[in-house]
Amino acid sequence: MCSVELRDDACCALVADPGVVDRDDPSLNGRRLLTACSPQHLAELTAAATPRTR
Ligand SMILES: [Zn+2]
Repeated sequence: MCSVELRDDACCALVADPGVVDRDDPSLNGRRLLTACSPQHLAELTAAATPRTR
């Protein structure tokens, strides 16, 4: 997760995360919302959170 203080122009993206279970919204099971300070950082976080194919 981005450690920079987030502002209104923060970027968000949904990434796959099999470990996530959302009790409030089952449709979000297996997904996690990433938030970052910039598109560049968001791309880094998304890449880091995406399971690598072996
Ligand atoms: Zn950041």
